[in-house]
Amino acid sequence: MSGRAACGAAVKADGYGLGARGVVERLAAAGCRDFFVATWAEAQALMPRMDGLSLSVLHGVRAEDVGEAVGSPARPVLNSAAQVARWREAGGGACDVMVDTGMNRLGVSPDEVAAGLLDELRIETLMSHLACADEDSAMNRRQRDAFAGLSGRTTARRMSLANSAGVLLGEDYAFDLTRPGLALYGGVPRAEAAGTIRQVAYLEAQVLQVRTVRAGDSVGYGATWVAERDTQVAILNIGYADGYGRAFSDRGRALLAGEDLPVIGLVSMDLLAIEASRGDVAEDAWVEIAYDLTAMSATTRQSQYELLIRLGGRLERCWR
Ligand SMILES: *Cc1c(COP(=O)(O)O)cnc(C)c1O
Repeated sequence: MSGRAACGAAVKADGYGLGARGVVERLAAAGCRDFFVATWAEAQALMPRMDGLSLSVLHGVRAEDVGEAVGSPARPVLNSAAQVARWREAGGGACDVMVDTGMNRLGVSPDEVAAGLLDELRIETLMSHLACADEDSAMNRRQRDAFAGLSGRTTARRMSLANSAGVLLGEDYAFDLTRPGLALYGGVPRAEAAGTIRQVAYLEAQVLQVRTVRAGDSVGYGATWVAERDTQVAILNIGYADGYGRAFSDRGRALLAGEDLPVIGLVSMDLLAIEASRGDVAEDAWVEIAYDLTAMSATTRQSQYELLIRLGGRLERCWR
């Protein structure tokens, strides 16, 4: 969908919670060459395995980053006149630059570019970031046009604007390089992509105990769930410390052999109760927890991004 542009990958926040190393390995094997992290600590964690790959650090160079950044094969994405000056003074090599075209988050202004701020700076990729790409907003075109106006104004070898939602806006948003994150991990940033993007991250938990709860008895903290009839209940080894938040209390679902098994009561820190009368649930069995990002985002009112990046360190990342 990026047309003739190269497709890079945002792997910040530990590959959106899925494990940056594993993500980079698989995407590199699939032909991806350009990766983006937020911080130098994230870059450092990936670094020994980035041979032949391009890694950009979106937060640029703070004073405390210069020492590490100058000798690094990763490139800072310079975000302000101060960062540009810092990079020049340090004798830094190739860099990327973020230009702010209206989001007013990070980036130098088009006016600063016109005034020569970037002259003779060795720029690999000139970037900007869309504020409203997941909506049909007039701002998208304004930002695209402002960015296109910078073409040929710097030494940049490539230009890059689109995140996941931006890729879906069409080829005239792709420029030379796109930077999806969310969509690579199964997130659906715009409704028209619902049939195109499949779930790729699945959640599973193991049954620690199965019990029969008698009619009138309750389950879990606060005794909030009360059995209307005798009910089989399975207790799973997952909880909000694993990122399966309390918003799933009484709302989440487990899936077993085609059966929907509802979460009952409050999610605990490490444990979860599901109603298991219909499924044939045994102790030690693994059950899938529904984690389709679009549906779960609607269920919990958490963004698809948050649902991914919260997946905790206790979960084992299994690649298939
Ligand atoms: C996080 C980020 C992306 C990826 O955004 P998605 O919405 O996850 O596709 C791209 N560019 C920048 C500058 C980012 O911060």
